[in-house]
Amino acid sequence: MQDQARVVIIGGGIVGCSTAYHLARLGWRDIVVLDQGPLFHNLGSSSHAPGLMFQHNNSKTVCTLARWSVETYLGAERLAPAGSGRSVWQVGSLEIAHSPQRWEELKRKLGNSRAWGLEAQLIGPGEVKRLVPIMYTDDLYGAFYVPSDCDVKGEVVCETLAAHAQKDGAATFYANTPVTGVEVKGGRAVAVQTPHGRLQAELIVCAAGLWGPVIGRMAGVHVPLTPCQHLYVKTRPLPELAGETEWVRHPVVRDQDQDMYYRQYANAYGFGSYRHDPLLVPADELPHNDHPAIFPFTAQHFEESWEDAAHRIPALAKAELDLQFNGLFSFTPDGNSILGETPDVRGFWVAEAVWVTHAGGVGRALAEWLVAGEPSIDLREVDVNRFQLHMPSAAFVRARGERQYIEVYDVIHQLQPPATARELRLAPYHARLQALGAELFESAGWEKAQWYSANEDLLGEFKPAPRRAGWAARFWSPTIGAEHQAARERVGLFDLTAFTKIEVTGPGALGFLQRLTANQMDRPVGSITYTSLLTPRGGIRADLTVTRLGDERFWVLTGGGSGLLDLAWLRFHAPGDGSVHIQNVTSAYAALGLWGPRAREVAQPICENDLSNTAFPYMTAQQIYLEYLPVTALRISYAGELGWEFYTPTEYGLRLWDTLWAAGQPHGLAAVGGGAFDSLRLEKGYRLWGSDIHTEYNPLEAGLGFAVRLKKGDFIGREALAQIKAHGLTRKLCAMTFDDPSVAIMGKEPIFAPGGEQALGYVTSANYGYSVGQSIAYGYLPLEHAAPGTPVEIYYYGQRHPARVRPEPLYDPENVKLKC
Ligand code: FAD
Repeated sequence: MQDQARVVIIGGGIVGCSTAYHLARLGWRDIVVLDQGPLFHNLGSSSHAPGLMFQHNNSKTVCTLARWSVETYLGAERLAPAGSGRSVWQVGSLEIAHSPQRWEELKRKLGNSRAWGLEAQLIGPGEVKRLVPIMYTDDLYGAFYVPSDCDVKGEVVCETLAAHAQKDGAATFYANTPVTGVEVKGGRAVAVQTPHGRLQAELIVCAAGLWGPVIGRMAGVHVPLTPCQHLYVKTRPLPELAGETEWVRHPVVRDQDQDMYYRQYANAYGFGSYRHDPLLVPADELPHNDHPAIFPFTAQHFEESWEDAAHRIPALAKAELDLQFNGLFSFTPDGNSILGETPDVRGFWVAEAVWVTHAGGVGRALAEWLVAGEPSIDLREVDVNRFQLHMPSAAFVRARGERQYIEVYDVIHQLQPPATARELRLAPYHARLQALGAELFESAGWEKAQWYSANEDLLGEFKPAPRRAGWAARFWSPTIGAEHQAARERVGLFDLTAFTKIEVTGPGALGFLQRLTANQMDRPVGSITYTSLLTPRGGIRADLTVTRLGDERFWVLTGGGSGLLDLAWLRFHAPGDGSVHIQNVTSAYAALGLWGPRAREVAQPICENDLSNTAFPYMTAQQIYLEYLPVTALRISYAGELGWEFYTPTEYGLRLWDTLWAAGQPHGLAAVGGGAFDSLRLEKGYRLWGSDIHTEYNPLEAGLGFAVRLKKGDFIGREALAQIKAHGLTRKLCAMTFDDPSVAIMGKEPIFAPGGEQALGYVTSANYGYSVGQSIAYGYLPLEHAAPGTPVEIYYYGQRHPARVRPEPLYDPENVKLKC
């Protein structure tokens, strides 16, 4: 075996093959793929998958990865070397509904698919019967039909992709070559060890599927996934399909209410079931035999599914089995794949927990990332750096992995909090939240109040919110409206402890932050600056504030959920000469927001520092005392009101709550939860990273040009942004309000020109504005549709709702409230 390569890919399953294929297409050579077992008919999951591909996903990223996979597999097959077997059947897919809840869910999916540009239809039972004549359809409401979905033969896809990758010697594949060690020197992976020798490489990609955690450990990187058993059967020929010769002609089918899926094999049928307890297997305990990813078929786990299958496809009632097996695949705590490189071990990339459905796209995204330095789509939802500290623990991976398996086909509301592994991160004043009847949601492991039942008492004191019904009424309470108005008209106390707080210090800190941020950082000590961090292409990689606490000391404050991605980005770009220190100080500080027109009246009596507008102006920070408590106070507000973010060492956090609470009672202080916080920020037009902005959008089209200083000197993304500015924008993030203010939507809905067929864009954020009395949606629109007053239609649940582009922000456009 050779002893050097540009890139070594560990694992010759569909992910490894796809990555090699795309790297070769982008012009890389000297690619090596190693597998511990045989190639193509591999030891892992790819050779066992029945290969159903459903492209639709609530996540645009995951849907795009699936669409790229279809393109990859079809493209590779078209150019396949003579003699290669067929690997892809583009037969379409059906997700059937026999409950009203599922039918409603399919309507939501239709909206979603239009938003993502995936062609789909809702069809009636008659049309379902035409497409799959052997299905019982009398009890169906209908089905969600995606004509471009596919079924693939995993091992043939692998062989085809590998054949392309090996063309002209770009890639070399080695079978029976297990990686036994990963050498890391000075924080960089430099080589792999195998029984056939050491192989040095510039880059190493871990695509080892179920064995990802084992390989990750060799490099010192967490790969939080768990192998999970999954049962599948295939029948002998069915008389009802006699004469059928095409390998797959019927669309692939999901019957999610029964946790089942079906596919045709010419004159036979196959089906799989999630209708059993999750049967997890630790990655370390995978057997060392010829079939490590196949476990004994446990008939008791399939009994109920048999009955359901016979009901749905009556021909299966008397079917005999040709094959039954129990294969292993991977589940992660949030159900998403794991991609990318960590700043701890540079040069070691992971591409793990990837379905056949997404492997073609994952290979493409990873190859783009390796070759160009950044992928062409936003990958935040699958980034390896998204996991909070507790998430790689085996217990957490098991607890959440199990839920993912159980809920894989369930109708899950986008706000539904996870049921397991809760109460992990508690603010020091958590008992106070509970005492106020907090409705607790979870974010990044933190328990956060969405609203407080104690505030039901406020309902009679403010304008009532329009009543919600159905889907939009779930995980919502009219109390949210009262809390919102309490903050706007009086004063609110907000739990901000979950914010990620990063301290950047050292003689190189200013220069480093100047290079990473788009705004001017060279401001006096005590300044707060709102800024984006950009990718080289000018995409918004992070959206945060930087507070200068000293000449060489800065606080970078960012969201709780996205914080570790931002931390990783900072660490990736930090100079290695010791001039900059980056520390995650999230756990060191509790944080509370005190916002509302009466905030000064609450805080001044317990503070000996002058809190007047002159002494403590907007966008500045000071070290103060609130009663006995040492506090770093930031005069800033994501709610758009007068007030401060107060940061205090964690052990003072409970006392800070109590002190502010007591001081606030004469002024009508109310605790305000996350539901109201979101509607406050949307009225004010404050963008949310991950929804309104991310790497696919630049600050100019996002309306954040005011926080960019192209003339300050060089910074990452500056060149690209200058080009974008010179060429002019094509789209813009717009505020829209519905003609009927009682319309409540949830986000991700497609936006159309009146009567138009092609979506102009989709809703990035939506909520009711309880102060402005409007139902608000934000989304990017082509410039010709972006002028205030332009009518649009937003599709939700089978209906188009008229709306209109509005000047933004809708609340306090002159920032009078903030600056008083
Ligand atoms: P694998 O195919 O497992 O490949 C990983 C490779 O890494 C293996 O070949 C292994 O030998 C190699 N390796 C491991 N350790 C080492 C080492 N130390 N050194 C060298 N090589 C190593 N997906 C769908 O999209 N649709 C479906 O319908 C579908 N149905 C499924 C049904 C079943 C029963 C199962 C089991 C899976 C199904 N899947 C389906 C999931 C899908 O098969 C997997 O997600 C996918 O194949 C994973 O591909 P991979 O390349 O990551 O992993």
